[in-house]
Amino acid sequence: MRGGKYGQSISQEVLKKFLWRLGQNIWPIRSNLLEKGIQLDPICPLCNEHPEDNKHLFMQCNAAKAVWFTSPLGIHIPCNALSA
Ligand SMILES: [Zn+2]
Repeated sequence: MRGGKYGQSISQEVLKKFLWRLGQNIWPIRSNLLEKGIQLDPICPLCNEHPEDNKHLFMQCNAAKAVWFTSPLGIHIPCNALSA
């Protein structure tokens, strides 16, 4: 990670908050907004193919896979990850 010790601690804090929000399912993604009564198109605007929920937006969407793969972490998510 860039930024030395200070930058790394910020990144770890950001990652902790990201994962906590993901675990709590409180990201303002379309499925959550629809549950709160906000009228909008449930389809993911990145791929226009599948409903946008946590699994899709962060793991299954081809756009998400590209982001994870091109990130410094270089994560490759298999095609069948979290399917079902
Ligand atoms: Zn998508």
